[in-house]
Amino acid sequence: MSAVLECRDLWKVFGRRSATVEVLRGIDLTVAEHEVVVLIGASGSGKSTLLRCVNLLERVSDGTIHLDGTDITDPRVDADAFRQRIGMVFQSYNLFPHLTVLDNVTLAPRRVHRRSKEEAEQSALELLARVGLADKAREYPDRLSGGQQQRAAIVRALVNSPRLMLFDEVTSALDPELVGEVLALVSDLRRDGMTMVIATHEMGFARRVADRVCFLDRGVIAEQGPPEQVLDDPVQPRTRQFLHRLV
Ligand code: ADP
Ligand code: MG
Repeated sequence: MSAVLECRDLWKVFGRRSATVEVLRGIDLTVAEHEVVVLIGASGSGKSTLLRCVNLLERVSDGTIHLDGTDITDPRVDADAFRQRIGMVFQSYNLFPHLTVLDNVTLAPRRVHRRSKEEAEQSALELLARVGLADKAREYPDRLSGGQQQRAAIVRALVNSPRLMLFDEVTSALDPELVGEVLALVSDLRRDGMTMVIATHEMGFARRVADRVCFLDRGVIAEQGPPEQVLDDPVQPRTRQFLHRLV
């Protein structure tokens, strides 16, 4: 199986001179096509920073990130072109409040990919229908529930047919009764073979959806493996402590 994503010895240091924080300290992470990798770890362990580095929202301090074999940290590559091949969904939905759902979803394909309005809208409507939002296409985000807004944000990330999807705590801002519908959508994507890296504190979801769970501890992948191994029978004391604190 070929690797979609390959992070080698990634370092991210914030600040300068005496006041530096090493947030990522030598991350090695390979994600194969169709693989679903779930990142777990305490708040501040570096999960969001890792995802933001992969999406080129942060510049890495050292190390390389290859997407489909191309080093996207090379300053000579077209970062925008690669960013379009990676879909990212955040904790807060980040939909534009002054645009309808349909306009939110079609903004990137029309502006960046220069697709025609009709073409962009047709694929957007198909995707919205697939996630049960066909009747919300012409509504503004504030008329949607949090779960519906998050599903719309996921559609917006999917509409460019990304090679890789990154999810950062996408259920954290949702009322508990709305979490399920968003997780179900991520499970559907998994069934469709989408390659994904997912940061979550929902251990039940991690167990269901992950091919591999990576436990991050202070910027290092302290332990990784199949969910049943990492979550039920962790090798590292640090992983055990983290999982204990959750119950
Ligand atoms: P997680 O998502 O696992 O909670 P983050 O990646 O958000 O962790 O944060 C890891 C650490 O990096 C935290 O200590 C945070 O304060 C620090 N950090 C994140 N972004 C910045 C920044 N722009 N400047 C300085 N420190 C940052
Ligand atoms: Mg985070």
